[in-house]
Amino acid sequence: MRCGNGIEARQVDELFINIDPIQAGGRLTADAMKAVIAYGDGYSVCDNCRKPNRLDYISKPPIAEFHKDVAAWLNMDTVRTVPGARRGFQAVAHTYVHKGDPVLLTSLSHYTEFLAIEETGGIAREIPVDADHKVTPEATATKIEEVKREFGRVPALAFIDHVDYQYGNMHDVKAIAKVAHGYDIPVLYNGAYTVGILPVDGKDLGVDFVVGSGHKSMAAPAPSGVLAVTAERAAEVFRTTTIVGDVTNRKFGIKEPEMMGCTLMGATLVGLMASFPHVKERVKHFDRELENNAIVMDALLAIEGTTCLSEYPRKHTMTRVDTTASFDTIAEAHRKRGFYFSSALGEKGITGLIPGATKIWKFNTYGTTKKQAMHLADAFIAVACENGLPLKK
Ligand SMILES: *Cc1c(COP(=O)(O)O)cnc(C)c1O
Repeated sequence: MRCGNGIEARQVDELFINIDPIQAGGRLTADAMKAVIAYGDGYSVCDNCRKPNRLDYISKPPIAEFHKDVAAWLNMDTVRTVPGARRGFQAVAHTYVHKGDPVLLTSLSHYTEFLAIEETGGIAREIPVDADHKVTPEATATKIEEVKREFGRVPALAFIDHVDYQYGNMHDVKAIAKVAHGYDIPVLYNGAYTVGILPVDGKDLGVDFVVGSGHKSMAAPAPSGVLAVTAERAAEVFRTTTIVGDVTNRKFGIKEPEMMGCTLMGATLVGLMASFPHVKERVKHFDRELENNAIVMDALLAIEGTTCLSEYPRKHTMTRVDTTASFDTIAEAHRKRGFYFSSALGEKGITGLIPGATKIWKFNTYGTTKKQAMHLADAFIAVACENGLPLKK
């Protein structure tokens, strides 16, 4: 099948078990696929936009209700949809960070958090992680004190990733937020790897902002995401426009500058909405996902020389392993070099690993069935055995 203009239909998740770390949680549900087709046209959600004209007020399709549902689900007060988690970071940073302001993030923070700070003229200050690649409340307090000494004031904002993208480790956001709030620093919870994957309760975590990624973790098309805030912060981040045209005297009502008025206007939003009931259900069964991850980890760790670089036992399905002393030892002499590994897995119906990577790599078992997890486990063991790698006794 072709889409025209040289575009072939993508058949990755149809033909393979895809364990790409960033793709597993974004795979569309059948309902989202229908929504993409039905709402693919430009501005298609605007058919029934009535006064006051703003995306989050539209009731057909039930966009207004969706906003309320997401806020309740995350236990926050106000929600807006955004074109990716990064645009949520940007709106918050732009509201609180001014030129020269220090901003707190961590040494495992995602590049999009850095860029959001850069755009405002802020200065990044990273909380160092401990030997286990974890961000601790103690290190947070120490870093804030350091920033105070350096800048004469505390950071304007803190970005804390609940589960980081490098190790998939889970950091104690609740305790970290408590420390930051002790200094009156607003806290943004980066839920790119958690919102839509496991239960998230913003009030319990004690954070000011919860950001989620639709295309990474909510089975939604890209670019999509959510920004949920407390009532106190809503008036700041979602302040309405005050600008006036000098010739026409025009004003723009309740449009919000940080949202550029309206955000997701078609397939992205309706896709996110269509998957939402499935997402709400799936977060309740994260334990099953961890069980499937454990099936695969047990197999990998049974191969002599393989180590898990992420915290272990796993608290998230996105995992970083080191196979320098196992799969990588085959690469040099193999006629396909390092590509033998992804190629052998491909033959067994597995995709999503960086081709050629045999040393340190990440995978995500999220969304696999138990049967698929067992197939993954068998496949890793089989590739090891085919290449003469020893298994642990
Ligand atoms: C993927 C990721 C992002 C970016 O998410 P988008 O929705 O693509 O903007 C931000 N932070 C972390 C930790 C991520 O893993």
